[in-house]
Amino acid sequence: MDNNLTMDKLVALCKSRGFVFPGSEIYGGFANTWDFGPVGVELKNNIKRAWWKRFVQEDPLTYGVDAAILMNPTVWEASGHVASFGDPKMDCKKCKQRFRADTLVENHSKGLVSAEAMTNEELMQYIEKHHICCPHCGGFDWTPIRKFNPMFVTSRGTLEDEADKVYLRPETCQGEYVNFLNVQRTARAKVPFAIAQIGKSFRNEITPGNFLFRTIEFEQMELQMFCHENDSMNFYSNYKERALKFAEDLGLSADHLRFHDHDKLAHYAKAACDIQYLFPIGWQELNGIHHRGTWDLSRHQQYSGKSMLYLDPFTNEKFLPNVIEYSIGADRLTLAILCQAYQEEKLENGETRVVMHFHPAIAPYKVAILPLQKNLSDKAKEVYSLLSKEFMCDYDEAGSIGKRYRRQDEIGTPFAVTIDFDTLDDQTVTIRDRDSMEQIRLKIDDLIQYISSKIKFN
Ligand code: ATP
Repeated sequence: MDNNLTMDKLVALCKSRGFVFPGSEIYGGFANTWDFGPVGVELKNNIKRAWWKRFVQEDPLTYGVDAAILMNPTVWEASGHVASFGDPKMDCKKCKQRFRADTLVENHSKGLVSAEAMTNEELMQYIEKHHICCPHCGGFDWTPIRKFNPMFVTSRGTLEDEADKVYLRPETCQGEYVNFLNVQRTARAKVPFAIAQIGKSFRNEITPGNFLFRTIEFEQMELQMFCHENDSMNFYSNYKERALKFAEDLGLSADHLRFHDHDKLAHYAKAACDIQYLFPIGWQELNGIHHRGTWDLSRHQQYSGKSMLYLDPFTNEKFLPNVIEYSIGADRLTLAILCQAYQEEKLENGETRVVMHFHPAIAPYKVAILPLQKNLSDKAKEVYSLLSKEFMCDYDEAGSIGKRYRRQDEIGTPFAVTIDFDTLDDQTVTIRDRDSMEQIRLKIDDLIQYISSKIKFN
């Protein structure tokens, strides 16, 4: 990550280069919603694919699902969201701004205190003891803390009364719990096994902001490992390591990542940990790994009346599986990767180039095809049609070659193929490496193999 990077700089680059646009922009926008553009959608899809490959495709114990966003409202009673889920909000009496008390505490402690499981009284005590002032006006005149339920409510049918109330899911994991029996039966899955999904969640956040970090609509990549209590701590440690390795393999640097074990736990939880990333706004949660005990299955058993007990075919033991959850926001991870990739580099000629050093496997476009002059476009389009069968390619014939390279650097394209007049004679092209800026000459016939060998994600 570049030391000069600010969130404003990143937002500007994302907007100008087609990564991310403000939501509903032509109507003046819609606060804290963002639209992924042609470049950003490729990046985010590649990140989601990499997650699925690592945690579903390559893991024989994990099965995928894609559950409905709108669920039977009783699900949210069972999960505790209707009765007790709520963010602790407080208002500054001076400037009338609203804040989350737990976020104030976490930011004040630079991410070292986990405030998630603190009671309102504990939060208030901490805020008073450390004299945490309003981040907006600097005042110290708080209202009492109140719970605010961040679930978005809508209604089905034609009558908008209580009976028709439906919720937009605030987390994807309930879709995994409610399919525990279905997956077990149809996949003939034996405990331990996990269910994973990637999908949208919605939260009416009190303090959204910081670009993609906290939005009101976002995608989660979550998995729930159902296991015997005796194996649960092993799985918990194992997912902590795997989650960290995944983040590093995607290109997040080790010195920008750290574990943050929670000292205060929810009453049902046996252990909990975040992996934090050093964003330009400081250390913040990137993902969570939680040992949730038997809480989720026991609640669904109680509210649905369906037995969630598992009969072990080898030991004949009947038990309620424990759950280890690994949950990461696809948008938040995309933001971390954008921050990490950004680099301003001084060139020998005194100019500065901005480069997005994405791992080639997740780069939006793998290769750009650039005819040196417009009258070489027929040959260049031939090369485009060959390469685009294998890779996401960009094509650009407008402007000087230097400007076109800069543009590709800014969207993080690892390779640029230039078509020149020699290409017409000897069927060779120049291929330029984004990071080293070195250029070599290759036969068109060798391009696919060359590029494929360089963009692997293990
Ligand atoms: P926070 O304390 O930041 O609100 P959380 O602990 O409630 O987050 P979880 O419910 O554990 O978060 O969600 C799992 C992951 O989903 C988070 O680690 C984060 O990556 C992502 N996530 C949660 N809320 C948001 C949001 N509003 N916008 C973007 N990503 C989010």
